[in-house]
Amino acid sequence: MAEPRPGRAVVTQAPENPQNVSMSHEKKLAQNEAMFRQVNENIEKAAIEHRYEATELPVFVCECSNEVCGDLIRLSVTQYEDVRRHGDRFFVLPGHEVPEIERVVERYETYVVVEKTGLGRDAAEETHPRP
Ligand SMILES: [Zn+2]
Repeated sequence: MAEPRPGRAVVTQAPENPQNVSMSHEKKLAQNEAMFRQVNENIEKAAIEHRYEATELPVFVCECSNEVCGDLIRLSVTQYEDVRRHGDRFFVLPGHEVPEIERVVERYETYVVVEKTGLGRDAAEETHPRP
């Protein structure tokens, strides 16, 4: 770390608790994803009840952190389950991933699987709907 240059004021006054701001923001984003995940759990249940064929994939909603997204993604129940068994993973449309709060673990033509990092990860695992 370089020493502060002489003659230049060192800024010591940080904005009020900046860490808390980003903390709650990160959690909020994770909550959005968890909300879409809950919607998808119901979609999957209905898809299984109606015995979707492999050629007729059920339509899920994008699980990105944008609360107004709600875009649709077709996944097979198997593909869905592959993501869902991980408490910290979500699937989103390509380009809907947010590198600051998650990392891409798998990339397909129609969707991307992301794994939560940081505080969002705790929030995601706390709300994981699977035992
Ligand atoms: Zn999205």
